[in-house]
Amino acid sequence: MQEPDSVQLPKIEDFYDLSYESGEIHLRGVKGRAFMLPTKAWATLRTSLSRLFKENAIQFMSHAGYAVGISFVEQTQKLEGKPKKLLRILLSIAKTSGWGHFSVEGDADNGTQLTVIAKNCSFCHNESSTESPVCYFLVGFVNGLVDYLYGKPHTAAETRCGGMGGEMCEIKVRELRPATAGEAREGGERE
Ligand SMILES: [Zn+2]
Repeated sequence: MQEPDSVQLPKIEDFYDLSYESGEIHLRGVKGRAFMLPTKAWATLRTSLSRLFKENAIQFMSHAGYAVGISFVEQTQKLEGKPKKLLRILLSIAKTSGWGHFSVEGDADNGTQLTVIAKNCSFCHNESSTESPVCYFLVGFVNGLVDYLYGKPHTAAETRCGGMGGEMCEIKVRELRPATAGEAREGGERE
């Protein structure tokens, strides 16, 4: 609870309207409803999917994240600006949704090489000792955002994850260049 007195921090009502009677939460500025999911429920969902679908769960969750990323961009289509600016806005919407604090490093003008840092990530919040990164949904989400914003396919991989004990999750994004003959494999695909 260290809030500097001089800065007027936003409150949740600045972003959402709760209609308690009808059980609806509406996003301000963006049309549509939203709902909340406790991070513990997310952790249970992720563990359960991993147990049931093994390696396929990774693809499942990253595809789900990818679709949500695309939908984020679609919902904010009335916003204008270069991809760099829109990416920041979209990540700040994710922040106001309680997903964590995001920052972007790298070539955000062209999207060829980007690193998204997620501090306080919700998607691995209840983990501290996983063997490998677990934020597949977030990786897919970031991948969907940049693919749509820059109009080109990218690969995205989580190179550091708070679930493994670190303080942040780090997602490296690379533009997927047309493959030269013989290595036309899409990144992230598995046999
Ligand atoms: Zn993570």
